[in-house]
Amino acid sequence: MYVCGPTVYGAPHAGHGRSTLVYDVVRRYLEWTGTEVVHVSNVTDIDDKIINRASEEARPWAEVAEENEELWWLSMDRLGVARPHETPHATGYLPAMVELIGELARDGAAYAIDDGVYLSVAAVPGYGLLAQQPLESLRAGARVEVVAGKRSPLDFALWKRAKPGEPSWSSPWGEGRPGWHTECVVMSLALLGEGFELHGGGEDLKFPHHENERAQAVALGRSFAAHWMHHAMVELEGEKMARSVGNVLSLGELLESTDPRAYRLLVLQAHYRAPMDVGPSGLAAATQALERLDSLARRIDEIERAQSCGADAAREPRGDPAPAPSEDLVSSFRERVDDDLDTPRALALVFDAIRGANALLDNGDVVAGLARGRAALECARGLGLSPAGDRGISTHASELAHKRDEARAVRDWAQADSLRDQLVRMGYRVEDTPGGTRLYRTGVSL
Ligand SMILES: [Zn+2]
Repeated sequence: MYVCGPTVYGAPHAGHGRSTLVYDVVRRYLEWTGTEVVHVSNVTDIDDKIINRASEEARPWAEVAEENEELWWLSMDRLGVARPHETPHATGYLPAMVELIGELARDGAAYAIDDGVYLSVAAVPGYGLLAQQPLESLRAGARVEVVAGKRSPLDFALWKRAKPGEPSWSSPWGEGRPGWHTECVVMSLALLGEGFELHGGGEDLKFPHHENERAQAVALGRSFAAHWMHHAMVELEGEKMARSVGNVLSLGELLESTDPRAYRLLVLQAHYRAPMDVGPSGLAAATQALERLDSLARRIDEIERAQSCGADAAREPRGDPAPAPSEDLVSSFRERVDDDLDTPRALALVFDAIRGANALLDNGDVVAGLARGRAALECARGLGLSPAGDRGISTHASELAHKRDEARAVRDWAQADSLRDQLVRMGYRVEDTPGGTRLYRTGVSL
């Protein structure tokens, strides 16, 4: 999947947090179901906004880009977003962009005028399909930007000629820099190939950015993204969050006062195509909900620990094998997430199961309560939501793995095997590595 990444001219805000979390959830969920994902997300490190910021601050543009990119990754790490497998930078793909623009010009789909090279949308069959609007209304809605020589208001810049003092690269059309829409089409095709599965971004990118990425691929007869996914925007107390409104909440500020997992939960509670509010009441409710998840995880951990101590005392491997997570819950959960990433309904199921597990445990039905509770935690993990201090491996399981290493060190194979069996029953895959026992969650294949 290719996800449009940041233009690194300022600090990330809450909206960026939602965007990266939505696609982080897509990626983690797919991986949780056993699908291999290649996640590519670009960094726009040359752009008008970066150049403007650099001139405002009277410093080199590359320094502005580097500094803000560092800030971006710091925030994403704090947010618990997995880093993309590839993070191509616009400045690293200049020759490939010049090459693509040249191809479009040779095919007659692009034309050069005084200030740069433009794509003629008239040369693109089905232009406007992604925006789902007829050409007429797109034309009427196009921002009036008077550029002498442009054939249609919808035609867009592939190459912008540099003004004096601006950063520039050489091309057959003179010194300049590539347009943003060219960056993404070149890097996605270069790293994922034609017909890649999924292209994502915010709904504000649908038109013109994504339409124009697609237009270049179509004009060259290449197949582009097979699926598109656009998430809705973030609001603050019922109002659209925008620089023009002056209510932009920085991500750093948000994470100062909030458990990053609460923000993920808030994102999951809204359908990705619906606006979501990042007001304090929603975050407070999400924090409370997290506490229910965490306390169930602690409760399960304590029960497992007590059971294991009992087994040790009796010098027996264990009594009844721990049941696998309830398969019915896992399959209903998957049905809901598979239905256009319906995370609000999937989460409702998880929190129902948390309540159910606690009720079963309260009634002394430990076997059923554990099964239900483990399934609820496992499903939450499928959305990248883990109990506090947990990476999918409970502390109790880590202790058992450590005991197993000790048993192996003194060649107590029977004890080592018995501990391995116990871990397997708890839902782990156990591997021997030179560094000792390594545990993996076996996920939904239970
Ligand atoms: Zn893009």
